[in-house]
Amino acid sequence: MATTRNCPVCDTPPGKAEVFLEENIDQSRITGLSFASRKEPEYMCHRFMRCPTCDLVYVDAPPSQDALAQAYHQADYDSAEEGNDAAAAYIHAIRSVLARLPERKRALEIGTGTAVFLERLKNEGFAELVGVEPSVQAIASAPEHRKPWIREGIFVESDFEPASFDLICCFMTMEHVLDPKSVSDAALRLLKPGGAFVTVTHDYTSWVNRVLGKKSPIIDIEHMQLFSTKSISYLFRTSGLVDVQAERFANRYSLRYWARLLPLPQALKSRIGAFLSGNALGRQKLSFNVGNTIAAGYRKV
Ligand SMILES: [Zn+2]
Repeated sequence: MATTRNCPVCDTPPGKAEVFLEENIDQSRITGLSFASRKEPEYMCHRFMRCPTCDLVYVDAPPSQDALAQAYHQADYDSAEEGNDAAAAYIHAIRSVLARLPERKRALEIGTGTAVFLERLKNEGFAELVGVEPSVQAIASAPEHRKPWIREGIFVESDFEPASFDLICCFMTMEHVLDPKSVSDAALRLLKPGGAFVTVTHDYTSWVNRVLGKKSPIIDIEHMQLFSTKSISYLFRTSGLVDVQAERFANRYSLRYWARLLPLPQALKSRIGAFLSGNALGRQKLSFNVGNTIAAGYRKV
C-alpha cells in the first residue's frame, strides 16, 4: 500500500485538501502504452486531491519512485509526428524567453523523448544539448545524430554541475514526476545567473478540461499532479525563481491527432481515425488551445 504525502508543491497536509477525483484504475487495462506519451486517453487515474493553499491537484497516495521509474523505462513510444508538432509549438512559445537569455551555450531538457526539441534549440544557436529520458524505446526512436545528447534514466540533479545551464526545459513532464518541487529547486541551482527554467503543463482549470471532466486526457494514470497557472507559478516562486510568468498557449497538431483525443466511443473513433489517416484533411495542422500552460522563471542575476 502506498503511503500518503503532503501537497508536493507547498507541503500542506492532505487532511486539509478535498477530493478532486476518486481513483479509477482497472489493472487488466494497464499496458506498455499506459506510460507512453500522447497515447490514446484511457481515463484511468489515481485518487486526486486539490490543495486549498496552492491550487495543485495531486495524487495523495502515489506509487513508489522505483515503480514509476520501472514503468517509464519500459514505456512504449508511438508519437514521433506529434512530438515534432509539439516542438514547433514550444519553440514559438518560448521566443521571448530565448530573447532574454544572456547567452545560448548549454540547454537541458528533462523528459526529452527523441530530443526533437533539442534539435530546435540547436537551430537557435545552442552549442551544447543535454536531454534526460527514461523510456528506452523513445531513445531508440531518436535519429542517430541526437542519441549522444540523451542520457537514459530519471532526472537526477547530482548528474550535473551547478550553475552550468542557460536554459532548462521540462515539457509535459512535471505532471509525471514524484516530486515536482525537487525538479524546480534543482533547475534553479543548475541554471547560470539569468538563465531560464521553462515548463509546459496541462491546466486542469481550463475550459476544455472542465467541459471534458473525467473524459479529459489529463485524467491519466501517469499523472501524479495537475497544475493550474496559479499552482505552477506558486511552485516556481517557492523555488526562488524570479520574474515568473505563466500563460495559456495553443498547440498545433494534425486533425487526425485531435480526433484521437475526443471522448467518443472507441468504434466511432476508429472509423474517424481511419477516414482521416487516408487523406490530406487528416494531415491538416490545427492550432487549438487544449488547456496547456507555459511557465517561465529566471535565476536572479
Ligand atoms: Zn499545495
